[in-house]
Amino acid sequence: MNKRLGMVIDQERCIGCEACTVACKLENNASCHWIRVETLNSPQKDTPSGVFPDLKIEFLPRLCNHCSNPPCIESCPNGLITKRHDGLVTLDKEKCNGCKICMEACPYQVIFFNQEENRVEKCSFCVHRIDQGLEPFCVICCEGQAMQFGDLNNHNSEVSKIIAEREIFQLKSDAGTGPSVYYCHPKPRRRL
Ligand code: SF4
Repeated sequence: MNKRLGMVIDQERCIGCEACTVACKLENNASCHWIRVETLNSPQKDTPSGVFPDLKIEFLPRLCNHCSNPPCIESCPNGLITKRHDGLVTLDKEKCNGCKICMEACPYQVIFFNQEENRVEKCSFCVHRIDQGLEPFCVICCEGQAMQFGDLNNHNSEVSKIIAEREIFQLKSDAGTGPSVYYCHPKPRRRL
């Protein structure tokens, strides 16, 4: 069976520090943020909602889902987006003519336009590192160790074990895209 490389992001451990965002930008020399950390349940970033002691804040890092059925691939008129045997969805940005059609096709808004170079960009799961047997740099740099990376088709991988054990969800799971990024809900808080 082919690999299906993917990621599990544990909302319980994500502290919204955006180390992943910075790591990604540095590693990929990206013109913009290919991974963005969204704040949930809060009127503004870094400010929890509710009244002490019942405060709530959650963070949701968003990046390319390296979908199993990626609509971006079909949308590119020049065939520059492809799916590898290991599940990574890669984009040949050097040949991109900046038509932006893929940006509209992606239901997750994770393809970004680089105005200066007139071409699109997106997360590659650090494909250059994967090919050296390394993990994506955001995973390495995550302060809270909230990100796990591995083969979703291997039942013994850490990502598969987390998915089997925790309450998980995918973004737009009903869109038919088959995202390879999973999220773990934060565990319910115990009142002490
Ligand atoms: Fe393509 Fe968007 Fe899916 Fe990434 S998240 S594989 S860019 S459709």
